[in-house]
Amino acid sequence: MKCIILIAAPAAGKGTISKYIEDKYNYKHISTGDLLRNEIKKNTEIGKKIKSIISSGSLVGDDVIKEVFEKEFKKSKSNIILDGIPRTLAQAKMLDELDKEYDNIEIDKVIHIDIDKEIAIDRIENRLICENCGSVFSKKVIKDSKCTKCGDNLVSREDDNKETFLDRYNTFLKETKPLLKYYGDKVITIYNNSTLEDIYKNVDELLEGDE
Ligand code: ADP
Repeated sequence: MKCIILIAAPAAGKGTISKYIEDKYNYKHISTGDLLRNEIKKNTEIGKKIKSIISSGSLVGDDVIKEVFEKEFKKSKSNIILDGIPRTLAQAKMLDELDKEYDNIEIDKVIHIDIDKEIAIDRIENRLICENCGSVFSKKVIKDSKCTKCGDNLVSREDDNKETFLDRYNTFLKETKPLLKYYGDKVITIYNNSTLEDIYKNVDELLEGDE
């Protein structure tokens, strides 16, 4: 099973790019953010524990991440794209362990999506997410508050405000960015400062032959 890892600051476009790769290249999209928000929505024991952590912009503990991720990972049969994991060195090592255990994950590419901080803040302040399918939209282009893919409601995430963004951004610099060194030669950096067409073109160049 091929595995693409996305590493990026908040609002850099992990979710949008994942959905594109999922639709066009037939990868299964696993977003730890979506899995965690789902636990909160369903008010599970995990959901109750993590609600305030997510709203504050801090990272959820590695043990919880392992639990929710492994459950989803075990159901995967196709190639996978990992959006939001690993975010710490311990999680990168956990993936290596899963690889040993299941002996079928091939970390094929690690895509680092880079973005200017000011552009990320603007996107965060205008971001809308579909409650049902997790698709991402901008208040700047959307006419009504309905998802154009599945028709469900679009909402602003509780952690999508400038103050929490700055905390999430600093957490990214401290905990997650160092993983680029860990993955070394596997890392490819693409910039997502301009239009969606440009970023999709970059992704197509990277994944040529995978269709
Ligand atoms: P972002 O747009 O900030 O990248 P995500 O949807 O990926 O958002 O994640 C939202 C929040 O969920 C994070 O700020 C963090 O609190 C929590 N989270 C998601 N994935 C992880 C992870 N792998 N480890 C720890 N916390 C996580």
